[in-house]
Amino acid sequence: MLAADLGAAHATLALCDLSGRPLAEAVHEIRLADGPEPVLGWVEQRWREMLDASGVVAGRVLGLGVSVPGPVDVATGRVVHHTPVLPGWQDHPVRDLLERRFGVVCVVDNDANAMALGEHHTAWPGSSPLLFVKVATGIGAGVVVDGRLLRGADGAEGDIGHVRITSADDGPLCVCGARGCLAASASGRALARALREQGEDVPDSRSVVELASTGHAEATRLVREAGLVIGDVLATAVSLLNPRVLALGGDLALVHHFVGAVCERLYQRTQPQSARGLQVVASGLGDRAGVVGAARLALEEVLSAEAVDRALAGRRQPVP
Ligand SMILES: [Zn+2]
Repeated sequence: MLAADLGAAHATLALCDLSGRPLAEAVHEIRLADGPEPVLGWVEQRWREMLDASGVVAGRVLGLGVSVPGPVDVATGRVVHHTPVLPGWQDHPVRDLLERRFGVVCVVDNDANAMALGEHHTAWPGSSPLLFVKVATGIGAGVVVDGRLLRGADGAEGDIGHVRITSADDGPLCVCGARGCLAASASGRALARALREQGEDVPDSRSVVELASTGHAEATRLVREAGLVIGDVLATAVSLLNPRVLALGGDLALVHHFVGAVCERLYQRTQPQSARGLQVVASGLGDRAGVVGAARLALEEVLSAEAVDRALAGRRQPVP
């Protein structure tokens, strides 16, 4: 299995066996903004180098899994609408292109879904439902119920970053063009912008985390405030889903003040029966959740009843 977790500035690539165990894994710097053709050509090249270095012939690869930071129609393997992080990727045939290059099935999904699946199978295989929330440059969520990802009708499930948290038109402007979205106040991008306006050198959400980890008072305050606001929105999700586990991933989940603030607000805003058995945790996989989940997506496709039926039909000998 070959897996790729593509972020705005970093990609994690892996070669895994059929149990999901990584045979090779590497993190590289990339620029998704360069567009799909150069980025996917680069991914193919790195994957082939990984196979060569591991002594695995390309013919033994059974499936590909790719996660991207945007909404995906899993049925077609395409990014469904424009997002600022994925300029030029909308409607590009990511899945079909990679399937043609390698001659095996490929699954493309959004990063929060892949992370949710990776976290579920690695750390919480017996816990259902599991709600995974990624808070990094943007904010997204994935839900795993009885071991399977919950799919929306149009590939937009879990897109909680653009829930409007203010009804007034004077809320902060979001990258989606609307005002008052959760992501415009509480994402890593928003916190980095707020700190830059105060003269700090924080280009991205990881820098916010690094600053907060040094005990910087304003960075810590902003991260905690973001946790409270996200906790407000998640109180609705917890009331709706009654999850057993809420796993927080992405850069901000590395700050314990953030996780604590989400917890604090959740327990204030939900009924005891919704939250009594809820475990709120930071992702155990951390930065690896996406690539582990991407490998799992490929594995589930390769081992699906339909795929096994197709393989058996191809091998079936005629009865004499
Ligand atoms: Zn928005």
